[in-house]
Amino acid sequence: MSGPPGASTAPFAPAARSVTARAPAKINLSLRVGALRPDGYHTLATVFHAVHLDDLVTATAVAGGEVTVEVADEHGVPVPGVPLDEANLAVRAALWLREASGVPERGVHLAVRKSIPVAGGMAGGSADAAAALVACAELWGTDLDPLARVAAMLGSDVPFALTGGCAIGTGRGEHLETLSAVPVPLHWVLALAGTGLSTPAVYAALDELRGADQGAEPRIDLRLVTALERSLVGALGMLLDNDLEAAVLGLRPALADTLAAGRQAGARAGLVSGSGPTLAFLVDAHRAATVARAVARQPGVADVRHVTGPAPGAALVG
Ligand code: ATP
Repeated sequence: MSGPPGASTAPFAPAARSVTARAPAKINLSLRVGALRPDGYHTLATVFHAVHLDDLVTATAVAGGEVTVEVADEHGVPVPGVPLDEANLAVRAALWLREASGVPERGVHLAVRKSIPVAGGMAGGSADAAAALVACAELWGTDLDPLARVAAMLGSDVPFALTGGCAIGTGRGEHLETLSAVPVPLHWVLALAGTGLSTPAVYAALDELRGADQGAEPRIDLRLVTALERSLVGALGMLLDNDLEAAVLGLRPALADTLAAGRQAGARAGLVSGSGPTLAFLVDAHRAATVARAVARQPGVADVRHVTGPAPGAALVG
C-alpha cells in the first residue's frame, strides 16, 4: 500500500504500549505478633485495611527482554531508599509473573510513582509489586490465574495489596479471609515521618523486649471485626492495637508525643501503622483538619495526609 505523495515510506513504528495500574497502602487495625518461626518470620494475626493512598506503576513494553525500573514521587522527583535492581519488589513481580506465565522473553520498563511512604509500615513495596503484577498481566495478555500464587511468593503483604478492602491475615499475613464491606468509609489522618524504619529491626526490637516470653498464639479480637463490619467507629477506636507499638516507640521515642497530640486534638484513636514509623489516627471527618494541623506541628513529622478506607485492591487505571 502506498501513502499520499510526500509521505514517508518508512515502516510504521507503533508507539510503545503502556499500561498503568494502581495499588493501595494498608493500615493494620490490629496486629498481633506471635512467636518467631524457624523460617525467621513471626506468626501473625492481623486485620488489614486498605486506604486510598495509591502507588501507580506504568508498565511499558520494551525490546530485548530486560526488566527495568524508575521510581519517583508524585512530583517526579526520584525517591531515595528504593532499590532500582532485582531487589525492587515491582521488578521481582514482573520477573516472576513472566516466568509463571511462560513468556520469559518479554521486556518491560516499570515507572513507579510513589505516594506511599518508603519503609513507612504501609506496605508500599508490596503495593508496587501488586500493581506491577496487574499491569504486566494486562500488557502481556497473560492468564490472571498465577497472580495470587506469585503474590504470595513475593511477600506477606502482597496478596492483600491485590485484594484490598478489609481482611484478616494469618500465617505471615499471606492467608487472607476477606471481611464484608464496611458500610461507611473510615477517615484517617496519617502522620508520615521523614525517614523510614526497617521492618526486621522493629521485629528484632520486639524480640528483645519480650526476651524468653515469645508471645501466645496470636488471635484477632472478634469484637473489632464486628465493629468494623458495622461501622461502629467508637468501639473500633477502642479496639485498635499493634503489638509492634512498644518496639517502634522504643526506636522512635518522639512518636509518643505525636500520638498524644493527635488524641488531644480529637482523634478517636491513634496507632502505629504496621512496623511504623507512620502513625494513623482514626478521626471523624469534621475533625480531620484539626488533627492534621496538630500532628503536623510535631517534630519528625514530614507530611500529613487525610485518607479514607477501605480502598479497592490493585487495578488497572483508566
Ligand atoms: P514491609 O512491607 O517490609 O513491612 P514497609 O511497609 O515498612 O515494609 P516498604 O516501603 O514496603 O516499607 O519498604 C521496605 C523496604 O523494601 C525498603 O526499605 C526498600 O529497601 C525495599 N523495597 C523494595 N522494593 C520497593 C519498592 N518498590 N518500594 C519501596 N521499597 C521497596
